[in-house]
Amino acid sequence: MTTSLTTARLTAVTAAKSTRRLYRRAAGTVLGSAVELRTDAPDVVLTFDDGPEPGGTDRVLPVLAEAGATATFFVLMTRVRKHPGLLREVVAAGHEIALHGVDHRALPTLAPGEVARRARGGKAELEDVVGREVRWFRPPYGRQRLSDWRAVRSAGMLPVLWGPTTWDWKEVTAAERITKSLQGVRAGSIVLAHDGFAGEEDGACDGPPPVLDRGKLIAGVLEGYASRGLVARSVGEALARGALVRETWFPG
Ligand SMILES: [Zn+2]
Repeated sequence: MTTSLTTARLTAVTAAKSTRRLYRRAAGTVLGSAVELRTDAPDVVLTFDDGPEPGGTDRVLPVLAEAGATATFFVLMTRVRKHPGLLREVVAAGHEIALHGVDHRALPTLAPGEVARRARGGKAELEDVVGREVRWFRPPYGRQRLSDWRAVRSAGMLPVLWGPTTWDWKEVTAAERITKSLQGVRAGSIVLAHDGFAGEEDGACDGPPPVLDRGKLIAGVLEGYASRGLVARSVGEALARGALVRETWFPG
């Protein structure tokens, strides 16, 4: 009795969740942010935030090269201004560059006009350094209001969020990070990783960075994906063989 009641309750919860997801997806065709890709290729989209950072970005690049993988780097302009050479190394290695922000302040803490100015200005400044179009934007902390989403779209970019994560901003064990990075991953997943850690100079107050070797972590993550037949790709490269799945994403 108890079991069947629990099962009934679980079924109801699952149905409600999937209805909510269907709604977010339907609304996502109009007001959507990218959350994954639909693809028949064995591509998993690997994304790095908060760089470029010496000791992080330069650790990750040889690991990606070794695996024949590509990734999308969502960079902070506060970092790009300090380390333009490191950014050029990322571009030269064949990776895709996207914008994470002029700095790391959460968009909902800024006036809407300021968000619009930053989206336009940040994109133009980054394109000057990179020498190619910047198509994607990742809001710091994944936080955006409808007005922020509109500002990013008006500036000519699409917000790209994520599914699986690597827990590389938390103080957990290496084994926990690998387990987490494999949880729910499948072809078309967009995985969140970091090649840096935003600090006070980027407008973030998230405490001290975790102690970890980002190169070693990514080597383990890529190995885990390879064991499932998956190869890491940038958003743009995976998109050439698939389609973006968009959902409404306004956690505020
Ligand atoms: Zn970030």
